[in-house]
Amino acid sequence: MFRCDYCGRILYKNVSGKYNICSAKCKSKFKNKKLIRELELVVFSEIKNGIKVSDIVSKLQYEKFDIVSAVRRLTYQGKKIYLKTSTELNLKSLLFIK
Ligand SMILES: [Zn+2]
Repeated sequence: MFRCDYCGRILYKNVSGKYNICSAKCKSKFKNKKLIRELELVVFSEIKNGIKVSDIVSKLQYEKFDIVSAVRRLTYQGKKIYLKTSTELNLKSLLFIK
């Protein structure tokens, strides 16, 4: 099972030959490596054990889609965060630091 390299959602259709990318939107966002790094640092600095994804979204001044994408990357690709449930990450998910 592959996930989109930008948003971290399960990949059903790949729109890129080189990377795992789910949509044109993710394809253009994936090019901005500087913003990707910045988002991951800022998002990770907000993570406390048991914090809800929606609480991180409301704290930060970035687009919701970009914040949740960074949380998914840190969870599913970076493995710096984990969920205690097996459901796909959503706004109500509680996050824990690995
Ligand atoms: Zn995507």
